[in-house]
Amino acid sequence: MQNRSIEPYLNSSFECECGRTHKSLFAHYIFEPGAIERLPALLARLGYRRPFLISDTHTHAIAGRQAEEILQRAAVPFSSHVLKSPENSDLAADEHALGSIAMANDKEADIIISVGTGTINDLGRYFSYITGRPFLLIATAPSMDGLVSGVAPLIFHNMKITFPAQEPLALICDPDIMAAAPLKMLAAGAADILGKYNCLLDWKLSHIINDEYYCDTIAGIMRTAVDQTMDCAGGLASHDREAVSVLTQALVLSGIAMDFSGNSRPASGAEHHQSHYWEMQFLFDNTPAVLHGTKVGIGTVLMLELYNELARMNRPDFARLRAEISSRPSMDEWEKEMRRCYREGAEGIIELEKTSGKNAPEGLLRRLAVIEEKWEEIKALAAQAPLAGEIYHVLETMGAARRPADVGIPREYVRDSIRFGKELRDRYTILQLMWDIGALDASAERLVEKYCDEQ
Ligand SMILES: [Zn+2]
Ligand SMILES: [Zn+2]
Repeated sequence: MQNRSIEPYLNSSFECECGRTHKSLFAHYIFEPGAIERLPALLARLGYRRPFLISDTHTHAIAGRQAEEILQRAAVPFSSHVLKSPENSDLAADEHALGSIAMANDKEADIIISVGTGTINDLGRYFSYITGRPFLLIATAPSMDGLVSGVAPLIFHNMKITFPAQEPLALICDPDIMAAAPLKMLAAGAADILGKYNCLLDWKLSHIINDEYYCDTIAGIMRTAVDQTMDCAGGLASHDREAVSVLTQALVLSGIAMDFSGNSRPASGAEHHQSHYWEMQFLFDNTPAVLHGTKVGIGTVLMLELYNELARMNRPDFARLRAEISSRPSMDEWEKEMRRCYREGAEGIIELEKTSGKNAPEGLLRRLAVIEEKWEEIKALAAQAPLAGEIYHVLETMGAARRPADVGIPREYVRDSIRFGKELRDRYTILQLMWDIGALDASAERLVEKYCDEQ
């Protein structure tokens, strides 16, 4: 099993054609059968003597106990904290879990090791950061693209907030363990990667319209990883180890691409805004969480529908669009909608609009002028989007959720996530473009009709 796609980018720094120097400090990627056996030697080589292991009941059984036994045999002193997984759901990465880790903290430990991929990874990465120690990750499933990441999304006061975190200096994956993960988790990881089709288009779109920094090299690295993942969906469905290897590499490359660009642009666009929006609603409603990548997959189908629609669209009447700006909903009406949709999180959204002015008439006028001038270029970009139906079919191949109702997202939340998901971040995407040309509300209705007919 080769790591050929990743090797050139480990601990790398290069001058790029885009004019920037791209850098990633992530250096050690071990993906091989029995990979955990290499932990003691790796620690010795890196100069660490006493790890503090963090796992939960599930991941401890999958790989944590094995890591402990290996350390014991090698006479490496360590301490280990196993968080209790709730009976019927997953552990949340929130202040309670973090408090549990803090209370079990081993002050003598010189490195933090998380055993697990989702919650435990987020918690460990953040705990390393706040206690100023390096971080190492033993992955248990290729279920999301935060394997190599310098931020941690955590739940604080029922709100999902992205905190700075310690990027792992090494990632250890045993393909036997990764491939044995439930298909639901493999499919979620793949869907998180398929979402990059949309986010790369969003990035380029913003470059065309706002002259935002864009790098062809980074986008190219990501696109190759997505194409390869697309081709191995069938293999994932049968837990094939080669397919899992391709997927894990794509997930790691996604983190490296973010290191290179210095933000999450190459890995997160409107499809992630859909996922975040629904996740917030689940938190407000106190309903069980759904895997991140699963939601991203559903959001990707919807957002690609918008690109497909754009590719078929006739040139808008720009003079009319300009004339009608004054009849768009007022800021007061918009604020009312934000309070309805974002509930206790509304203040932050309203604050963001004050600094970003995404919806202010001046910005809209400026963008309409650019969209008018570059309409053909924008349509040509939209024509590069894969068909939503194609991604839908790939998700189906993996038995993954592909319609909102598959994971209990009601019709109203879909309508609102399409209309207002863009308010979550100051990031130009297909959602803002459709809003700019006055097409977003009608598109939301069309998509609700097409994808939410079950309710
Ligand atoms: Zn570049
Ligand atoms: Zn993601």
